[in-house]
Amino acid sequence: MPHGMMMELPLLLSGVLQHAEAQFGQVEVVSRETHGPLFRYTYADCAKRSRQLAHALASLGLKAGDVVGSIAWNNHRHLESYYAVSGSGMVMHTCNPRLHPDQLIYIINHAEDRVVLFDATFAPLVKAIAAQCPGVMAWVCLGDAPSTAALEGIPHLHSYDTLLDKASDQFEWPQFDERTAAALCYTSGTTGNPKGVLYTHRAIVLNAISSCLPGLLNLSPQETILPVVPMFHINAWCIPYSSFVGGAKLVLPGPKLDGASLYELMESEGVTISAGVPTIWQALLAHVEQHHLRFTTMRRTAVGGSAMPKALIAKFMDIYQVEVRHGWGMTETTAVATMGALSPQQRSLPAAAQQDHLAKQGKTVFGVSIKVVDENGQDIPRDGQTQGELMVRGHWIVSTYHKGDTSPLVDGWFPTGDIATIDADGVMQIRDRVKDVIKTGGEWISSIDLENVALEHPAVAMAAVIGVEDPKWGERPLLFIVRKPSATLESAEILDFLAGKVAKWWVPERVVFLDALPLGGTGKIQKSELRKVYR
Ligand code: ADP
Repeated sequence: MPHGMMMELPLLLSGVLQHAEAQFGQVEVVSRETHGPLFRYTYADCAKRSRQLAHALASLGLKAGDVVGSIAWNNHRHLESYYAVSGSGMVMHTCNPRLHPDQLIYIINHAEDRVVLFDATFAPLVKAIAAQCPGVMAWVCLGDAPSTAALEGIPHLHSYDTLLDKASDQFEWPQFDERTAAALCYTSGTTGNPKGVLYTHRAIVLNAISSCLPGLLNLSPQETILPVVPMFHINAWCIPYSSFVGGAKLVLPGPKLDGASLYELMESEGVTISAGVPTIWQALLAHVEQHHLRFTTMRRTAVGGSAMPKALIAKFMDIYQVEVRHGWGMTETTAVATMGALSPQQRSLPAAAQQDHLAKQGKTVFGVSIKVVDENGQDIPRDGQTQGELMVRGHWIVSTYHKGDTSPLVDGWFPTGDIATIDADGVMQIRDRVKDVIKTGGEWISSIDLENVALEHPAVAMAAVIGVEDPKWGERPLLFIVRKPSATLESAEILDFLAGKVAKWWVPERVVFLDALPLGGTGKIQKSELRKVYR
């Protein structure tokens, strides 16, 4: 077949930055400094400082292919480093500061980070791990001159701003193959060591373009987006890139992620869309409810990372008129791979029925395909009932882990470790993770479904369900509840509530009331911790 006659230009992140500077140069980036105040500048300023950083990294002796780590909040310096590092042909390795220090040391050494950028907040952490990361030749504090006592003792210490001040803002971004590695993110490693996912420029650019579509984030200069999802968690679902493709004002919350701070930032900056895991929204809504507040500008919120409880979707939509965009993705899928949505027909359904649909993880976005398979790897019917392991493939799905010697793929598909159903319209629903699923008397109980129902009770702030061993049934569900402040709720009441809403054999025998549930580094409930204590 003859080739078409079109130009072939590589899809590179420097191209995204150049586009944003040229088209949206005056669009604002607002960023919470680690020490508190707000900092504001424009896309053009960000592009200029990214070029300065590219020089600064070169002055430290770095070259294309080197890896630069970051241990940082969502802020403008972290944003500049996303573009400067990848744009120079180096790899941006975002580290989750809430990993166990041993795991942090492991990923910094495994990735072979040569420079690590860190926020002052994490100085004690850096001090504790630096000696065990011998390959790191510079630790760069993201901020003013490192003068505080907290930084004393950190080897090869540099100040980011001082490095930039000395650097020229003229820099020619190199051109290279779009399949070059741009960024690296490790899975959280709940079992064994974390595994590295090495994103290509091509994967990120395609994902960023796709994320701007109206059914996804709908990014344009009309929008102001606040990614609460951390820049160390799957590149903040690629929002630092997609906002530059679409031209939306970008608001970065720094370290202040409590409900009151987020609400204040949303209101003062006119945020129209936000993105984060459900536990963040639970805290935000608790604040808003307690103080009888309203959202004056926020119209949509993108939620993922774990199942968004239907009760929370209902609250956002019915009380606050905020549309919930419920997506599914994982470190291995670069960012969002499926997104819940209503068809035109479903828009005329009663609110509760609409919310049932939106609680599902939805349809694949362009560029991704999914299927579900049984234990033998055979495709299972798309009937919305039969569940199996979710498999995924597409332009921004992992093929092999960083330095991995075997491919995780099965017949070209990535096995997600999630149990799901897909219906005839292609709508996917996550039922559980393989490791969370509860098998009782040969039947499966979805912990997500049970949690969702428990969260409908007005006295319940948080809920989690795990399977515990049972001599008769193999496993039985055990329910954990965190009550809302000042609410009274006893076991019998919540179990009665569940009995009215789920099959009798799904109802747990026991409830454990806790003051808080263990949350992992990305704000998700850590069932592995609950299992350790209660299994
Ligand atoms: P981890 O949660 O293991 O740290 P990731 O951040 O990569 O790693 O999370 C990916 C997993 O999160 C998915 O495999 C799935 O189990 C879960 N997940 C993500 N989005 C959703 C969602 N909308 N509903 C339910 N589970 C989700």
